[in-house]
This record gives sequence, C-alpha cells and structure tokens, in this order.
Amino acid sequence: MTLIDEINRLKKEKSAVILAHNYQRPEIQDSADYVGDSIGLSRRAMEEKEAKIIVFSAVDFMAESAAILNPDKKVLLPTLGARCPMAQMLTVDEIKRWKVHYPLVPVVLYVNTLASAKAYCDICCTSANAVEVVNSLDAETVLFGPDHNLAEYVHRKTGKTVIPIPERGFCPTHLLFQPEDVQVLETKHPDAIVMVHPECTVEMQNVADYVGSTSQMCRYARERNAETIIVATEEGIMHRLRKENPGKQFVLAYEDAVCPNMKLNTLERLYTALKEEKHVVTVPEPVAKRARKALEKMFELKN
Ligand code: SF4
Repeated sequence: MTLIDEINRLKKEKSAVILAHNYQRPEIQDSADYVGDSIGLSRRAMEEKEAKIIVFSAVDFMAESAAILNPDKKVLLPTLGARCPMAQMLTVDEIKRWKVHYPLVPVVLYVNTLASAKAYCDICCTSANAVEVVNSLDAETVLFGPDHNLAEYVHRKTGKTVIPIPERGFCPTHLLFQPEDVQVLETKHPDAIVMVHPECTVEMQNVADYVGSTSQMCRYARERNAETIIVATEEGIMHRLRKENPGKQFVLAYEDAVCPNMKLNTLERLYTALKEEKHVVTVPEPVAKRARKALEKMFELKN
C-alpha cells in the first residue's frame, strides 16, 4: 500500500477531510479533498457536515480559523511549527496601543492573524475581499493589519485612510518579488500578462496586469485568453495553475519564492497527523467567540 492509499484508508475510517492551501506541495494538493485559500477552505469545512476531523495542511492561523468556525470538529495541523511570520507580527498589545490613539476607528484585520488578534478587531478580511470589507464600513479611516502592502492596496482602491498596524508588517515570501525580475521575464515573453498578489510591494503591484488573491488568480488565469502568464505569489500555486490550464504557460516571477513555513508540511507528516490525530488546534472559547464574530461579519458581505 502506498502512503496515499493509507491516507485514503484513514480518511474513510475516521470520517476525515483534508484541506490543503494553494501553497502546499504538489503531492499534498493532489491528495487533498479541497485545495484553496484559507477562508475558502474554512467555509468548505463548515459545509462538510459528516466530517469529524479536518486535517488542515497549511499554517497556524488558517487551522485556527477552521477550529473557530468548526467547534464541533477536531482540527489537525500536520506540523506544529508551521507558523506564519506575518501573523506573528501583530500582537494584542500592539492593537491596544493603536486603539488608544484612534479609539473610534474600526479595526480591520486580514485573516492572516492569530485568533487572539482577531478577537480584538471589528471585522476580518481576506486579500480577495479587503476592498469590499473596507468600503462596507461607515468610516473614512480604518486601522488595518498586519500587512502594510495590502493596506496600501486597499487605500488606493477605496480612497480611504488606511492606517497599517504594525507600521511595516509584511510577508517575507512576497517581498522577494522585484519589478526588475518581471522586466527581464517580459523581454523573454513579450506577450505575457502579469498577475501579482497584493502582499507584494506597491512597485510590484504597479507592474501588474492583475492584482488578486490566490483564488482570484486561479479564476483570472482560467478566464483570460493569454498564452503566457507571469505569476508573483508563492510557488505552490504553480501546480494548481498548470493542472487547471494545460494549454497555458505559467512563469514564476522569482523562482525562489518559497514560503518555508508552508513547505514544512509533507505527505509523511500529513499521514502521521491523521493516524495519530495530532496536532489538535484549539482556541479558548472566549477568544473563539469574539474572533468568530469578526469572521462571520465578513461572511455576511456575501463575497
Ligand atoms: S506566504 Fe507569507 S503570509 Fe503566507 S504563510 Fe507564508 S509567510 Fe505567511
């Protein structure tokens, strides 16, 4: 029996479902029940009424969101150390510090935050719906964290004052992309179009034909009539893009754009997690209750 056969056997036996983020290794994506972005997957988990266990192959904050939204299910993270450094950049103390200066300004937090931080915000957003979320608020100024590039993108799209908290929160992987690398690729592929994730710098966003989240990129790539697409986000997305669009060519804008945290998950670890039912992700109910409210408020926008 192969490892994949074993995983499938355990999945059936334990009524488990495997959710894998778009940045996971190809073999994990191929063995998952669903592949997508963090919130898309959490919503998917909510629809899996029969499932007792969710193996969330991704990083800490995503598994936390799944646990918050699925309190009746056991949520497992295959690798305990798979933590998103950007999520760690915004602490509760930091939010409280900003609230002292802006007591009446709403706090909008990207889902790439820990549950403890989410519990102190008014509403959550994803990179797909951040503009819509901020536009929905009856406020001309918002506190927005933790990614300052996404904050700048939202400011440019909404015209509102978007104060980044902390001032320079960032994703180390998306910072690796540089417009100069795109220019070199464009000379090799003159008809290519460029897709950029909003966690990239503003300079990168400026060279894009399209700025969007991973799920939006997948949709755009399917619908856009282009032979070659240059992609500026974590390299794991390339597997899905190529699989879904066999007739198109995809070129990563920087070949070492790898999130080491996402790649901590392996097929072996996924198998062990399922077999031994570890590592269980839990969020204390008082925190979960407040964070759930912020997530549900976002879902109410029907994005
Ligand atoms: S790609 Fe960036 S934001 Fe996503 S998990 Fe890795 S470090 Fe965090």
